[in-house]
Amino acid sequence: MSDALLNPQLIRLGCRPADKDAAIREAGALLEAAGCIAPDYIDSLLRREAVANTYLGNGIAIPHGMAEDRAQVLRTGVAILQIPDGLEWNPGQRIHLLCAIAARSDDHLVMLRQLTRLLQDEARLLPLFTTTDSADLLAALAQPEAPLPPDAEAHDLDLCEEWRLDYPNGLHARPAALWVEAARRSPAQLQVRHGSQAADAKNLIALLQLGLRQGALLTVSARGPQAADGLKQLLRAMREASLAEQTAAAIAAQRAAAQRPRAGWQPSGQPVSLPGIAASPGLAIGTVRVLAGEQLRIVDRPVSLAEGGDRLHEALAATRRRLAALADATQATLGAAEAGIFRAQAELLNDTDLITLSCQLMVAGHGVEWSWHQAVERLAEKISALGNPLLAARAADLRDVGRRVLLELDPSLQGHAPGEFGPDTILLAADLAPSDTASLDLSRVKGLATAHGGPTAHTAILARTLGLPALVAAGPALLDVADGSPAILDGDAGRLYLNPSEHNLAAARDWQQRQREAQQQQQQACLQPGQTADGRRVEIAANLNRPEQVAGALNNGAEGVGLMRTEFLFLERDAAPDEEEQYQTYLAMQQALQGRPLIVRALDIGGDKQVPYLNLPVEDNPFLGVRGARLLLRRRELLEPQLRALYRAAKAGKPLSIMFPMISSLKEITRLKGWCEGVRKELDAPPVPIGIMVEVPAAALLADQLAPYVDFFSIGTNDLTQYALAMDRQHPELAAEADSLHPAVLRLIRQTVRGAAAHQRWVGVCGGSAGDPLGAAVLAGLGVDELSMSPSDIPAIKAMLRRHDYARLQALAEQALSCDSAEEVRQLLEALA
Ligand code: PEP
Ligand code: MG
Repeated sequence: MSDALLNPQLIRLGCRPADKDAAIREAGALLEAAGCIAPDYIDSLLRREAVANTYLGNGIAIPHGMAEDRAQVLRTGVAILQIPDGLEWNPGQRIHLLCAIAARSDDHLVMLRQLTRLLQDEARLLPLFTTTDSADLLAALAQPEAPLPPDAEAHDLDLCEEWRLDYPNGLHARPAALWVEAARRSPAQLQVRHGSQAADAKNLIALLQLGLRQGALLTVSARGPQAADGLKQLLRAMREASLAEQTAAAIAAQRAAAQRPRAGWQPSGQPVSLPGIAASPGLAIGTVRVLAGEQLRIVDRPVSLAEGGDRLHEALAATRRRLAALADATQATLGAAEAGIFRAQAELLNDTDLITLSCQLMVAGHGVEWSWHQAVERLAEKISALGNPLLAARAADLRDVGRRVLLELDPSLQGHAPGEFGPDTILLAADLAPSDTASLDLSRVKGLATAHGGPTAHTAILARTLGLPALVAAGPALLDVADGSPAILDGDAGRLYLNPSEHNLAAARDWQQRQREAQQQQQQACLQPGQTADGRRVEIAANLNRPEQVAGALNNGAEGVGLMRTEFLFLERDAAPDEEEQYQTYLAMQQALQGRPLIVRALDIGGDKQVPYLNLPVEDNPFLGVRGARLLLRRRELLEPQLRALYRAAKAGKPLSIMFPMISSLKEITRLKGWCEGVRKELDAPPVPIGIMVEVPAAALLADQLAPYVDFFSIGTNDLTQYALAMDRQHPELAAEADSLHPAVLRLIRQTVRGAAAHQRWVGVCGGSAGDPLGAAVLAGLGVDELSMSPSDIPAIKAMLRRHDYARLQALAEQALSCDSAEEVRQLLEALA
């Protein structure tokens, strides 16, 4: 260690402390005398012993203070007590050297590796236990700084701020990796506390172990250099992840709604089948291939610590490189969200607990592969034991990434290569790692079933993106299926049919063929205008946020943009986009649309959608608070540049409409329109149609009174449903019940359509139910003029409308209004899908 860290003043030879406490106090006094620590840090050293084992192995202990007390470390230093007669540190663990560490740095791996280098060299180590010359110790320890294992005690640091977690799926690895990334950019110590548990914000596993669910109240705190800035950046990353998390959850809920049971494939007779949980839709016909127990046989082959440390370091670096390449390839083929799975996995490799545990096991005399594997398993079990299914899925990620490191350490552990599968394979496995799923050869593997896992695990997400029919959680019986058995896997019903009859095989092939034809037809027909079989026009538009998304949407048959959510322009930045930047974006959007309609929604922020630099007040009930138009009316400086940019774009002569969100009264409309008119006149721009979102029941009920004052309505069924049913739209437990086909919501929609018709105004729907085939059917039947949806939903919706006469849709919609429940409405409409 360098002189700054260790000098003769910090070494005491021939000590005989009475016990562990006395030894720690003596070492602490050395650190204090050398100006490394404030006196209170000695207590911190003692407190640490109550929560962690600081015995490193081979007669050495490394006491160090609590992470939260790091501010009491004035400069990094290591005090050494040599105890020639030895001292019992913990039962069965005797030490001769005590290295008390005061470290401002938290570069855990580097420090541990440096210390452990000495430990492996008994020839150099043993004489140090009895030497009478401190120069021997100085020479032997010519290595830098020292470690600080993570902390779990719950005391906030110097600067704190509270934040309520609003991620619908709680804190899982992807957003947690963003927190860690932000925290690591700061030199400050940063901590997240929930109740009595705290985690170092730079440690992914520690964060995940908090088991945070939506609604958890967190205290985020900071200490040390640039603490205020570090705290701000961390909170900003936490908030910025909100919208992405909420959007992902909303899309998943919409998709789940669209995929609720409908007439799928039905086998005849009573075929033998194994039930599981549906994870990815579609039918696969093929031959079963059981991926035999993925248990890796790891032999404990001790090596010198220097070699073990070096090999682990190299394996971690190689795994990081491979994961980065896998993330890039996944991003190119599947998309950014899927690539994020592997970026989060790479973050797991930086976990200090994992590295510390591996080093401790190596110090105890175990081989590097064995130590790493044990460390991964112990941590994965700890995460699984929290009993949170989302975290259980993250334990699978940890094992996946752990296995990758093992294969780098010892390539001979590699079992099956994916390319070995025969054609039309239905793969059965205990669980399949996400990285294996992403690299499956889909020309051979047609279906996937796992004994464990869940529909939210990354493997299931990847299977859905890959279009690979899959079921999960079929139980251990799945692995008893004979290799080579013919089977049909139904990913919609979550069932594996074994040894199907010729009749059922033929029927399944037939069904697959019809599905393929239907998809081809949909793709071909999607460029035709949206209309019913008897020619009633229903305009089909896309919900888009940015100009670069337009081309793909047009390919899918979008006839315009029914909803441009401009809040996406305000995210992931330090300040609101100025007028010029917004103007350029709206212009680019118009140009990409080449004269097709464009409806731009004014900034819909507030409540759950937070933009840190706007400094919105924290609200108890954000969904019922100052959001949408309410916020715009209070923060004119936000709306003004947006309106100026929009009217300047309107001057370019291409179609453009303005829409205001969360309207609940006429007064809001008249004030906002007044502002629009002021800006328009100032710019000498042409008038543009001005419409409102109907997403608050009040607006639906007053539609006939509001209609004369606006040019159009667009119904936001996502919010309208949450407000009509009093169900948080992202509540994981209420997702299935918060169904926009609830008759109460349908009645509000009918009232809106009637109110608009009385004044010859048109009505669109831009909420999720527009992209749900049954939702679109009933909406068209209720008389809406336009449906705006995710571009990928367009071909199926256009195809569905073209199959049915308007009169039939009308009759069914009328019946739906008198149903008792959303389930009843879905049953009524099922035949249409
Ligand atoms: C809606 O509420 O249905 C809607 C389209 O708006 P958002 O989903 O952006 O709140
Ligand atoms: Mg809304």
